[in-house]
Amino acid sequence: MKLDTSPIAAIATAPGRGGIGVVRASGKSLAPLIDALFPGTTLALRHATYIPFKDAAGSVIDEGLALYFKGPHSYTGEDVLELQGHGGPVVLRMLLARVLEAGADFGLRLAEPGEFTRRAFLNDKLDLAQAEAVADLIDASTEAAAKSASQSLSGAFSKVVHELVDKTINLRMLVEATLDFPEEEIDFLEKSNARGQLAGIVDALNKVFSQAAQGALLREGLNVVLVGQPNVGKSSLLNALAGSDVAIVTPIAGTTRDKVSETIQVEGIPLNIIDTAGIRALDEGVDVVERIGIERTWGEVGKADVILHLLDANLGPAKADEEIVAAFPPGVPVVRIWNKIDLSGHKPSLDVSADATHIYLSAHEKIGIELLRAELLRIAGWQQTGESLYLARERHLIALRAAREHLDMAAAHAAQDDQSLDLFAEELRLAQDQLSSITGQFTPDDLLGVIFSRFCIGK
Ligand code: GDP
Ligand code: ZN
Repeated sequence: MKLDTSPIAAIATAPGRGGIGVVRASGKSLAPLIDALFPGTTLALRHATYIPFKDAAGSVIDEGLALYFKGPHSYTGEDVLELQGHGGPVVLRMLLARVLEAGADFGLRLAEPGEFTRRAFLNDKLDLAQAEAVADLIDASTEAAAKSASQSLSGAFSKVVHELVDKTINLRMLVEATLDFPEEEIDFLEKSNARGQLAGIVDALNKVFSQAAQGALLREGLNVVLVGQPNVGKSSLLNALAGSDVAIVTPIAGTTRDKVSETIQVEGIPLNIIDTAGIRALDEGVDVVERIGIERTWGEVGKADVILHLLDANLGPAKADEEIVAAFPPGVPVVRIWNKIDLSGHKPSLDVSADATHIYLSAHEKIGIELLRAELLRIAGWQQTGESLYLARERHLIALRAAREHLDMAAAHAAQDDQSLDLFAEELRLAQDQLSSITGQFTPDDLLGVIFSRFCIGK
């Protein structure tokens, strides 16, 4: 991503047709752009002005609303101009082309993905965790995920991280002041209750970590692989699990005629279900297209968090089942589901044995489904705490974990007889750097590039 600060423009609304569509521009000063687009007109700040959008020759492309925000009171912190026109792809492209042309003289160019939000970050309108929450809110696939993302966007996550940073800084200042007076080192830890302060920071960090880890679950979901012979009840089980909710959130068509994956929700947690119905041995009967489908499915299986192995309680395992299960990656938990107990006469139950958890249920009669839901939530590590969750990213969890390791090291130094305050202070500094990287106070430039390049254009 370029770091130049020339003015930028892009279509800000999603591709396709819509009631309205928005072209957005941002730059240190957009006055010349506004002069070029609307000669002789003054746009009232932060008021909608109904106005024709004309091309260079003066003929009308569209009519709509122009909104002018003067920096720093705007999304990016720069001057921002939004043109709301009709939401057709052709008319929006024409409008964008007109804006780019009108601004060409003073270096206006097409925005790169995430560049508006990146400017908001660079101009201190948002911190990094909030900027990431913008993308997460847009991408949220469940209501619970959207709620957590807006929680992060509002700054709630950043606030608790800042509190951890502040506490760490306070302790550091205390330690570093003492470093100048070596004869007092010995007493320092006792007098200042440094150990107690450190333990307090670790407690607070653990709490933030668990809220963030739960939130990350809402974002990432659980990868579930469903195995079972035809007619054993896989589709029925999916419907039963999804309950009365609109079951299918994101159907992904496979290359074969079968759907390879779909996402359902249990308690707001996305379960990405990979149906292995299409898997069979790669023997001579398999054509090229199907081979690609099968190989792709196996690739998905490699990411499984849990395998659901569906069996008919009346018939027991078929030989093909065992062959497929034997080929699954080791260490992934397996739930054996004995379906159709309404016919077999088994009672709904959950038994844990060495090889797997066994659940007896009826998908069709919806008996015993809650046993499976609870087991899936248990495997996911879900705790119903009632606490607000932060839709954290893996990056945040890694930083929190690293910070905790440094704090643990600091505690270890403090516990030794020949405590070294230098090392204690150094670990605190490293913990602080990790925490600060979450909100972007201390984040290498290349990482910023990676984060913002994953945004869509116009954000
Ligand atoms: P799939 O091929 O594995 O997806 O199986 P389906 O979900 O399409 O179910 C195959 C057949 O078994 C259908 O006729 C279902 O109605 C029936 N079935 C599924 N679950 C049950 C169950 O719990 N009890 C009974 N009696 N029939 C079931
Ligand atoms: Zn089916």
